Amino acid sequence: METTMKKFKRCQSCGMPFKKDPKGSGTNSDGTKNNMYCSYCFINGEFLQPDMTLEEMEALVKEKMKEMGMHGFIAKLLTMGTAKLERWKK
Ligand SMILES: [Zn+2]
Repeated sequence: METTMKKFKRCQSCGMPFKKDPKGSGTNSDGTKNNMYCSYCFINGEFLQPDMTLEEMEALVKEKMKEMGMHGFIAKLLTMGTAKLERWKK
């Protein structure tokens, strides 16, 4: 995958900025850091929720933002960005 060579600032599955990830990023199967996905989405070279759909991820992201006290309109805008992340590109 050529996309693994790119340097991302946020998780390409859920959109969380890596600096908010307590572990910094997810990990590959060889234990090295994965700079595409966060530690909530991708550990040891595998997605934690491999069957998740874009719709489910959007719902999860929206829920998380509500928890963080983000208001409806902003949360909706940010959630719309989820579809543009590498994992969900068709
Ligand atoms: Zn993530």
